[in-house]
Amino acid sequence: MSEREPATIKVVDAFDLDDELRGILKPGEMVRDAQGRRHRLPRYFYEVPSHELATKIRLTQHFGLNEFVLVDLKEAPRLQQFPRYVPCAVRMLAFYLEQFRAAAGASLHIAVNGAYRSPAHKLASNATAHMWGTAADIYRAGSTILRTKEAIEKYNEIAEDVSEDVRVLPYGHAIGNADDHVHVDLGYITMIPREISEDRMEVPQETRPRFAFEERRRTDRRGRNGEAEVLRTED
Ligand SMILES: [Zn+2]
Repeated sequence: MSEREPATIKVVDAFDLDDELRGILKPGEMVRDAQGRRHRLPRYFYEVPSHELATKIRLTQHFGLNEFVLVDLKEAPRLQQFPRYVPCAVRMLAFYLEQFRAAAGASLHIAVNGAYRSPAHKLASNATAHMWGTAADIYRAGSTILRTKEAIEKYNEIAEDVSEDVRVLPYGHAIGNADDHVHVDLGYITMIPREISEDRMEVPQETRPRFAFEERRRTDRRGRNGEAEVLRTED
């Protein structure tokens, strides 16, 4: 892997994507967090055309774009293919993770599906910073697997000391806690890349005709409600 080979990446306005992708990414739509507060979902994404390019592009010295676009089978099927989409704020997350890495003096390993998760991800019932591309679940630091109270609390403390912008989740087994990773997030940051011209207003899809795939998603959500209690950490 060549570390410094120049590579370009396309920035897209999710309102320009096809209906299915807009229905999944929900640009500009409002979602509620676990406390009922409303947050507006990001609109501008990096379009990642292939695994090869994702491994080539470095966001920082030690973090490649590929580490932020690894998805699991709970993600919307369309987002399990390439091109993949990740909110542009992921670059800021990588910057903070680089500081965290330096403070920890250890390499940090992001879990599969531990970075960006779309609003269509099956565990995404409430807004979490993962939907903004501004959260990462770290499962290993150096040779330490982050599964014990001691290890998670140690690295939580290091992450929190990096900046007031960084939030972690306390160790524990309930929703809103973490017991097999260190969760770090920067909150609901949306980034507008400097390449973008903001001259076009768009209306979130709530006011547009609904498409068949959206109906399917609503059914999914209803079916999932009963499961919400047993899902451990959605954050
Ligand atoms: Zn998390």
